[in-house]
Amino acid sequence: MALSHCLFSICFFVSCFASFTVAEFQKLHHPSSKNDRSISFLVVGDWGRQGSHNQSEVAFQMGRIGDKLDIDFVVSTGDNFYDNGLTGINDPAFEESFTKIYTSNSLQKQWYSVLGNHDYRGDVEAQLDPMLRKADRRWLCMRSFIVNAEMVEFFFVDTTPFVDQYFASPNIHTYDWRGVVPRKRYIANVLKDLESALKESKAKWKIVVGHHAIRSANDVDFYINGHDHCLEHISSNDSPLQFLTSGGGSKAWRGDAQGGNGDGVHLFYDGPGFMTTPCVVIFTVHIQRQVWDILQGNLILGDAACCERK
Ligand SMILES: [Zn+2]
Repeated sequence: MALSHCLFSICFFVSCFASFTVAEFQKLHHPSSKNDRSISFLVVGDWGRQGSHNQSEVAFQMGRIGDKLDIDFVVSTGDNFYDNGLTGINDPAFEESFTKIYTSNSLQKQWYSVLGNHDYRGDVEAQLDPMLRKADRRWLCMRSFIVNAEMVEFFFVDTTPFVDQYFASPNIHTYDWRGVVPRKRYIANVLKDLESALKESKAKWKIVVGHHAIRSANDVDFYINGHDHCLEHISSNDSPLQFLTSGGGSKAWRGDAQGGNGDGVHLFYDGPGFMTTPCVVIFTVHIQRQVWDILQGNLILGDAACCERK
């Protein structure tokens, strides 16, 4: 997928927003448990299919690599439950697609999740309900929020309401827009609060996570999304921002889509898988990118420093 095919653009600078305000996104603190203060984590997206379509195989490899890297947490880029989100907090899909699938010891960490478009097709508030945390303490899903991991700060953004198509031509699908309408105000607030939070951040690395791809962002080091069922890394000559897609948590494109040959595409892999981005955040200060071939369990591309910062 070339950048020109991204669904929409988020401008993180809202011109009329000049005054300083306090960010509205809920902010969580997740310090590193390691002596060198480094953070490592896995990123998986587009996964919940009761183990089918390679979800269980991806989960197994996540467990292996999660153990090897001693991960601090897992990031989910959305489309957590197929095809239509959860029907409610008692939907057995939560257990069948999450609790009973990601069983490895190394994955018994906090999961930070955003919502995808498929999640909006069910009872959208179920995934946000604290009752799910009682069912499985790893689960944490909010619309937009911040995780401060000290030298790295994550800004999770609810991108589904930005996509016109879901409102203009929902087709046969029904979306649960509770908490989103009136849409214009919701979107404006998300952009305003995100801009404010990015300005306030003192973190050395800023990573924005959303379900859908975007065209551009300012003052951000990495943008990570799902939605596209592949693993991809794109950068551009015009900006230091690195775009990473991790949407291979179960049913991958594998041959169904064109990709991998556009400008700035460093990696395109259309099989199932996940990403891991251990961030070494003291002294060496660089981020390594590793992608694993899930079916064979082999490292297919790794240890590539995307960028460096003094
Ligand atoms: Zn999606």
